[in-house]
Amino acid sequence: MGEPGGSPNANRIFTVPYDPLTDEQREIRDLVRTLARERVAPRAAEIDKKAEFPWDMVELFREHELFGLPFEEQYGGTGTGALMVIVAIEELSKVCATTGLIMAVQELGSLGIKLAGTDEQKERFLPRLASGEWLPAYALTEPGSGSDSAAMRTEARLDGDAYVLNGGKRFITNAGVAGVYVVFAKTDPEAGHSGISAFVVEADTPGFEVGRIEPKMGIKGSTTGEIFFNDMRVPAENLLGEEGEGFKIAMRVLDRSRPGIAAQGLGLAQGATDYALEYARTRETMGKPIAQHQLIASMLADMETKCEAARGLLYKIGQMIDEGAPDEELTKVSAMAKLYCTDVAMEVTTDAVQILGGYGYMQEYPVERMMRDAKITQIYEGTNQIQRLVIAREMLKENRAFLLAGVA
Ligand SMILES: Cc1cc2nc3c(=O)[nH]c(=O)nc-3n(C[C@H](O)[C@H](O)[C@H](O)COP(=O)(O)OP(=O)(O)OC[C@H]3O[C@@H](n4cnc5c(N)ncnc54)[C@H](O)[C@@H]3O)c2cc1C
Repeated sequence: MGEPGGSPNANRIFTVPYDPLTDEQREIRDLVRTLARERVAPRAAEIDKKAEFPWDMVELFREHELFGLPFEEQYGGTGTGALMVIVAIEELSKVCATTGLIMAVQELGSLGIKLAGTDEQKERFLPRLASGEWLPAYALTEPGSGSDSAAMRTEARLDGDAYVLNGGKRFITNAGVAGVYVVFAKTDPEAGHSGISAFVVEADTPGFEVGRIEPKMGIKGSTTGEIFFNDMRVPAENLLGEEGEGFKIAMRVLDRSRPGIAAQGLGLAQGATDYALEYARTRETMGKPIAQHQLIASMLADMETKCEAARGLLYKIGQMIDEGAPDEELTKVSAMAKLYCTDVAMEVTTDAVQILGGYGYMQEYPVERMMRDAKITQIYEGTNQIQRLVIAREMLKENRAFLLAGVA
């Protein structure tokens, strides 16, 4: 594609995305944006093609201390808050959703320890996650339990000073590359949700095994795989919270990690919009740039508007988390951000492919990868059907009758 240099306003940036960041956060965003453009973007197509975990991107994050973003200063992090993590994921995902996901899972896999860990557990695990020495994973899903996590079969039985875990998990992001896994298992198999407990499991624990790594449609550089526990003894001091609190912990984690997936979706959508815009400026048909055909202009306008609306919702949940909003307020807005940003990701990346015509379908152009990568954002961390159920459930808890006073 030709560079946009031919435009008379080539040096002006017109986009004014919603930007509630502080000066410090803006500086970090600009660093991530520069790294994304200069170091991540040139690798994106190759990461997708080779479908190999991009350890060089991990090194890049380590070198620039980006893994510290989700952590407090006392554990070696930057203490810059949830909104900052969201913005970093968005910037990385504009050019490479696999690399954006590495940041999102650093948050997802650590949140259980951050939210439910004792001081001793936090001191033991968080600094190694904040430095990026360890990548984490969040292990909830099993072959028979995805949306219905209470149906999980993995069991944990207390035996002296350790819990003995037997069972396995499926579709676990970072399987095989993580140093530590937050694993959910049933300590009371008869008790449904209240029988689930959460454990921190180090990857070198005897009885821990990594199984098949799945080939998949998109985010191909990210590992998604099976893990197994065969009479795996996990020290009792690695239990997070109390026995039976695992489901609550899992849901509290998701309330705070779904915005990360929303950010991945928004990054993909904005990246695809930016690419399609530049393409439409230079590709000519019927004697003029396709951007000047009204049907294409209309698509571009819708894409940009959807991205900006998604950004408003996403940054709102980031701000709510940073302001310490209670769980019951986070649940609905987090689900809304995940639902909207990721539906926008699928719509907008599909439109970007359409704007590029036949070229959009070719692997030579990044929108083809972006469209494949976008699909997963509607599925993981709770499918978008589940997000709709969550939002409706939260709505039904609200009492708005007083708003209707006087309505005939
Ligand atoms: C690439 C990838 C990475 C992943 N990473 C992780 C990870 O790191 N950790 C982890 O624990 N899991 C992970 N997952 C699992 C993911 O969260 C689940 O796949 C997802 O929650 C859906 O579960 P399922 O696949 O079992 O689908 P199912 O639950 O079987 O759902 C099948 C379909 O039915 C719909 N459905 C189900 N129940 C209802 C309902 N009550 N009402 C309406 N519709 C419903 C779903 O929306 C879906 O469309 C990952 C999955 C993938 C593909």
